Amino acid sequence: MTGKLSEHKRAVALLKSLPAPLKIVIPGNHDLTLDRAYCSEHPRLYEWDHDHTEEELTEAISLYTNDEAIKAGIVYLVEGTRSFTLANGAQMTVYASAYTPEFYDWAFPYPRDLDRFNNSESATPSNPVPSCDSESDPGPSDVYAGKAVNLMITHGPPKGVLDKTATGQDVGCEHLMRAVQRCKPLLHCFGHIHEGSGSKRMMWSTANNSVLAAESNTRMQNYDLLSEQQRMFVGYIDATNIRHGAETAFVNASIMNLQYEPVQKPWIVDLKLPKAP
Ligand SMILES: [Zn+2]
Repeated sequence: MTGKLSEHKRAVALLKSLPAPLKIVIPGNHDLTLDRAYCSEHPRLYEWDHDHTEEELTEAISLYTNDEAIKAGIVYLVEGTRSFTLANGAQMTVYASAYTPEFYDWAFPYPRDLDRFNNSESATPSNPVPSCDSESDPGPSDVYAGKAVNLMITHGPPKGVLDKTATGQDVGCEHLMRAVQRCKPLLHCFGHIHEGSGSKRMMWSTANNSVLAAESNTRMQNYDLLSEQQRMFVGYIDATNIRHGAETAFVNASIMNLQYEPVQKPWIVDLKLPKAP
């Protein structure tokens, strides 16, 4: 909720209890204590919260990055591109970003008119790959070289996709949407706008690289692999027939509803990834 150490400890304990081999974690605007730049500008954080000591801030991040976390398969990403070779020999290249357009005074903000996703000049020594852009963005043709970004995981949604608020506004980031159009990942997963929870598959137009149409008839063949219990508690999207560059599956995986009750379903997405070189 506000990045208290006790909250992070519970989150990490939950992650450790899950039997998945790889657990990618990115923070978001509520994770105040994980954003050091934010903390130095807000030494007291919020009035309702207590002062955070330097030791507590270090401990909060280390919960996700220490040896124990790594042994449990936790990989903590704030922003940038990273490749993983999975146990089955697949290559998964992920672009992650914790940042969202500023909204009141929360963590990991950027001015809404700033394009941090399509401009390599925004790179800094501590954040060398802030965008999957230009030369470093290999694009779909390089997919079998294992270099293409096939997954985007961002805290916030792109403009116009599963980003509608209760008052009907599309509040996703237009610059992030341009980055998605450029990279055309197999899957773009995000949260942040609780009301936008859901999934859709969008085809890309070859004519102008813009989103053409939502595809509603998702094949469900692998749905049979889910247990009865899983079917009750998760959403499912079979994206195994998506060709890189032709289509993208979008998932707004917000667990909480507008009242901050964790009642919305998590998602299982089946993807076919390229073989690692
Ligand atoms: Zn958020």
